[in-house]
Amino acid sequence: MAGSDGAIPPARPVIGQAEIDAAVRVLRSGMVVQGPEVAAFESEFGELVGGRHCVAVNSGTSALQLTLMALGFGPGDEVIVPSFSFAATANAVRLVGATPVFADIEADTFCLDPDAVAAAITPRTVAVMPVHLYGHPAAMDRLVPLAQAHGLAIVEDAAQAHGAALGDTPVGAFGVAGCFSFYPTKNMHSLEGGMISTADEGLARTLRLLRNQGMEQRYQNEIVGANMRMTDVSAAIGRVQLGQLAEWTQRRRDNAAHLDARLTGVRPPAVATGARHVYHQYTVRVPGDRAAAQAVLADRGVGSAVYYPTPIHRLRPFLAADRTVGEWKLPETDRAAGEVLSLPVYPGLTTAELDRIADAVNDAAVSA
Ligand SMILES: *Cc1c(COP(=O)(O)O)cnc(C)c1O
Repeated sequence: MAGSDGAIPPARPVIGQAEIDAAVRVLRSGMVVQGPEVAAFESEFGELVGGRHCVAVNSGTSALQLTLMALGFGPGDEVIVPSFSFAATANAVRLVGATPVFADIEADTFCLDPDAVAAAITPRTVAVMPVHLYGHPAAMDRLVPLAQAHGLAIVEDAAQAHGAALGDTPVGAFGVAGCFSFYPTKNMHSLEGGMISTADEGLARTLRLLRNQGMEQRYQNEIVGANMRMTDVSAAIGRVQLGQLAEWTQRRRDNAAHLDARLTGVRPPAVATGARHVYHQYTVRVPGDRAAAQAVLADRGVGSAVYYPTPIHRLRPFLAADRTVGEWKLPETDRAAGEVLSLPVYPGLTTAELDRIADAVNDAAVSA
């Protein structure tokens, strides 16, 4: 048990007694894959996405890949994505053989800039994949009508944004589908896991077939499919965590408000009008020497992390696939990659720890 002066890690995944009990209960039951726990998890998660159909899979990346597959996207199709995201966003596009087209982000929210998306549309564009980065909803109020006007599908990458919303609409309820991740560091987890939300019953059925070898009835294969099933152990853990999500999200938001009020050396994260930010990350900009600032923080026992130091279009697998780095014009993406710093904001932080984080950041910003 860390004392009050122990180091504060950047993230602290929860695997408590309730999670362990749930896992043991499933293991003893013998029904361990795609069974009653998965069905219950899907139905309960639906409440978070306006009652949409939910399909559980084995990861957030699988959720994205399976959705693009179910929509029939492949070679020759372009999908507009942010480059300022985790590589999974663009990997999913490439895994189905389609081409990621990178659009720049807004400086304040770090999410896709609708003007940049509009400029990136070509006759080959089939979809836009906004990422609700750090738990802040992308500008869906502008992206949805833009996509509609051009006949494009919207697939939301909501891997970091369980419970975020814009206006009255939760993320995962804007696009043809929303994709969530339950990796241990996300706002809730199932060890590994993912969920797809959709209002389209036909799409939901196709997703269910595709995750299970193309079968609804065993050995009556209807289409070619993958194995992206969720285990019941994961679903049972996910259900425990889902039950905590509202309280944990409130804690994250309270922690963010506390940091907002205490920070003087850096500007607090922006929140767009009408946005409900769920603070998967609490991310500020350090325009000076970020590494030096991180060293000062580490010295004071405050963990910090950079999400993401290299934009996707500069990662090796994406170099020169279609355009050279110089041909991409993503100035806000490059600037963000050089400046962002994420501070601890997870639910388990104490007030004393939050004050320590703020004091250290205020001092570090001066020396950066
Ligand atoms: C975590 C994450 C994913 C992938 O989820 P996994 O469950 O790790 O496969 C996709 N997109 C974003 C933005 C993420 O943060």
